[in-house]
Amino acid sequence: MTQGRQVEIVEVGPRDGYQGIDPFIPTQTKIWLLERLVAAGLNRIEVGSFVSEKALPQMRDTHEVLAVCVRWPSLKPQVLVPNEKWGRSAVAAGAKQLVFVLSVSESHNRNNVRRTPAESVEEYGRLLQAIPSDTKIRLDLATSFDCPFEGRVPQEKALSLLDRLVELKSDAEICLCDTTGRADPAHVESLFTAAKKRFPNVQAWALHAHDTYGLGLANVNVAYRAGVRVFDASFAGLGGCPFAPGATGNVATEDLVWMFERMGVSTGIDIEALLPVAQEGAKIPGGLSGGRVRDALTSRPDACAAARQT
Ligand code: ZN
Repeated sequence: MTQGRQVEIVEVGPRDGYQGIDPFIPTQTKIWLLERLVAAGLNRIEVGSFVSEKALPQMRDTHEVLAVCVRWPSLKPQVLVPNEKWGRSAVAAGAKQLVFVLSVSESHNRNNVRRTPAESVEEYGRLLQAIPSDTKIRLDLATSFDCPFEGRVPQEKALSLLDRLVELKSDAEICLCDTTGRADPAHVESLFTAAKKRFPNVQAWALHAHDTYGLGLANVNVAYRAGVRVFDASFAGLGGCPFAPGATGNVATEDLVWMFERMGVSTGIDIEALLPVAQEGAKIPGGLSGGRVRDALTSRPDACAAARQT
């Protein structure tokens, strides 16, 4: 996926976008949206997570959503797991690609998965032993740039954690996550450049960007220029925390598609088909949407003309 001018966009709305939404989204609605995302050309979708129902009630139907994914032969679904136990459950439910998440900063990792980062590294080792060897693995390194509790995360902290993780499995895809959206382009460029230099054998690097401070696309662009070709995004920019006014979610899928296609970089996604799905996503009760392109491309032409006169 690194040849030529093309990128792979991983749709994470059904996991990162939905998980913070309080009213339960009916399973049939999730499946209906999924079908339309696939029809728009999104072939890699994070369809949910295998986690405790108490911790994330919105994700309690992930096994049902995963089960219907066989309907679409082009779709490569992935599910997030925080530990070996849930990784086993995901594989038993048919998952072929797992996303193992751990945080670089200790306070976020404790808060998120109740472990120190070192304990999560051990957990990762156990998970790798417990699952079939042909299971695809992606590592999500949360708080790679910034932590809600500790602030800016030193670059060396992320790199030294990767030392231990890459040793366990060198062919995993590694996603550096800007969990808070506070990363800036200089930091993104610096960390990816250093990581690619330190781990030349890692084939696939990915960026998970949030747009909380409006730097999502700038961070994606600089990561692309640093050689990253896999990007997480959420349709309608879903993913904002309802308890943090002003906070927005993941960088919007439609914004990424628009930017890359304008740059002559192929995404394989049909924006005309994506826009109506994104509009539906923005209407999900309890969700907070973000992004610009959805409104820009769907506003009435006469409204645009009026705006030009002012
Ligand atoms: Zn996220």
